[in-house]
Amino acid sequence: MADITVIGSNMFELTTYVGRMPVQGETLEAPEFEMGFGGKGANQAIAAARLGSDVNFITMVGDDSFGQQQLDNYRENGIRPEGIGVGKGSSGVAPIFVDPTGDNRILIIKGANEQLTPAVLDEKIDLIKDSKLIVLQQEIALATNYHAIDLGLKYNVPVLLNPAPANDHLNIDYVSKVAFFTPNETELATLTGMPTGNLDEIQAAANHLIDLGVGNLIITLGSKGALWVTKGHAEIVPGKKVKAIDTTGAGDSFIGSFAHYYTQGEDVPTALQHANAYAAVTVTRRGTQKAYPTAAELAELQQ
Ligand code: ATP
Repeated sequence: MADITVIGSNMFELTTYVGRMPVQGETLEAPEFEMGFGGKGANQAIAAARLGSDVNFITMVGDDSFGQQQLDNYRENGIRPEGIGVGKGSSGVAPIFVDPTGDNRILIIKGANEQLTPAVLDEKIDLIKDSKLIVLQQEIALATNYHAIDLGLKYNVPVLLNPAPANDHLNIDYVSKVAFFTPNETELATLTGMPTGNLDEIQAAANHLIDLGVGNLIITLGSKGALWVTKGHAEIVPGKKVKAIDTTGAGDSFIGSFAHYYTQGEDVPTALQHANAYAAVTVTRRGTQKAYPTAAELAELQQ
């Protein structure tokens, strides 16, 4: 029985650091290129696994060399292989262009991620029903997420839905069924249609969702940490003060580490404190998954 089942996307990131963005019809040399593993589902699964959780990752890679590298990456990080399917065609890839000011342009080709259908979850039901927490994001079809939420309810496994990237079409009835809903300020605004420019507005939008039935609302606030809201209770769990150099993937490291600490038996505010500390380390390092420390590295850094 795994601790956590993450159901979601994987992407192969192809990052080109350019001197400037090319204009239409222009061919330019770029000084630097890097390949890396990404995708919100994969990032969250890796964060939890590096901390020592036993993780199922239900995802689809393509039958290309990128897919093979993804499989190797999950194996090296101790993620169980049973949930990972190899589909037909291209893996999910993300060509990324970053200029010297840090501005970026990103393309997403979902590839095999589109083959992660509700039927795939039914095939993997034995993995899902025995875990302590199901973790979802929004880089796969909403229909697959809705089915995962229904399976969580059927088998009594709590569900965490991280509504990133924001999706206007997310059905509010499903939001009310999850145990943990974890938007950032922008995603909270998209979903509720309410302003979230200051703490009072965030609280009002949060109360709206709590009234609809969400168990725990966790709103990430960047360097300020996270706001935890339940019926009749709201509490800010402050972030760690660090010198941030790259916040890419901070949200995913926060969710993956929260899932780890919570399923290891910590109460919600304690798990949030630990997740803030974990995510704070990742923003002091460049890159996404490669910035995520293992439990041993984290212990060393915190000495
Ligand atoms: P992203 O989309 O960039 O991955 P996000 O918008 O989903 O991020 P944020 O609210 O920016 O999520 O950050 C998630 C968590 O990461 C925060 O709750 C906090 O714990 C940590 N964090 C982010 N930025 C900083 C920072 N500058 N200093 C310390 N901790 C940070």
